[in-house]
Amino acid sequence: MPSDLHVHTTFSDGKLTPEEVVAAAKAAGLTYLAITDHDTVDGVGHLYENGLLPVKGLKIIPGIEFSAHHPVHEIHILGYNVDIYYRDLIDKLNDVTEARWTRFSEMVEKLCALGYHITETEVLTIAGASKSISRSHIARILVKKGYFESIREAFDALLQKGKPAYVPHYHLEKEEIVELIKAAGGTPVLAHPKLVGDDALVEELCQSGVEGLEVFYPQHEPEDVERYMMMAKKYGLLYAGGSDFHGYATRFPQRLGLFTIEDEWAEKFYRPE
Ligand SMILES: [Zn+2]
Ligand SMILES: [Zn+2]
Repeated sequence: MPSDLHVHTTFSDGKLTPEEVVAAAKAAGLTYLAITDHDTVDGVGHLYENGLLPVKGLKIIPGIEFSAHHPVHEIHILGYNVDIYYRDLIDKLNDVTEARWTRFSEMVEKLCALGYHITETEVLTIAGASKSISRSHIARILVKKGYFESIREAFDALLQKGKPAYVPHYHLEKEEIVELIKAAGGTPVLAHPKLVGDDALVEELCQSGVEGLEVFYPQHEPEDVERYMMMAKKYGLLYAGGSDFHGYATRFPQRLGLFTIEDEWAEKFYRPE
């Protein structure tokens, strides 16, 4: 039976609501599912608070995905089984959310100054329930209004680091993230190591207190998987993996179940109620 430990919902930049993700996971026959929205645990909280957990026939692992501050490289850290009501976690996440709003307003302002007619309200309408507003929401509006053919194009021309509408992000430090996840009772895992773009840095990160490495990932070729498995073994880390499903037709996997990992790896992250 297959599992997936990396899935986004409407509470960050995914297309499906947590309920829809749960239904899709069941339809795909998944055993374990981790919901890992960017900088928020509210999607999981939403399921709890509406009495939708536990789900019959599906083992859900509450998770989160943090972005760590780094001048050059993109470092994402997943946290599994965090206590979603842990005070320090909630406080830190509120800081990050607030900084996201400021950044978002600044980006819309820059775009307007560059002659792109978009409003904060338009982007907010697209973002819907999401509390972690992101560049992809802005990009979608730019495509919708016909300025660009694709989200990728909008990023390349305007939104990528170094481009005219880019505003730097406020990120927690990696040490801070690892500590926070552990303090909230969770297991920190380094996400998609290949996307970090520097294996020497990945190796360093493997020794930063994380307890797992996301060795299985859609962009990992078999030789990458092998290399990261060896690295995980070397530093005594668990193998993790997932599809990074967002629910959009333009990004693989288009549906849950197209990219999965073996249950034997996923079950190490599961804590029964
Ligand atoms: Zn990521
Ligand atoms: Zn992700």
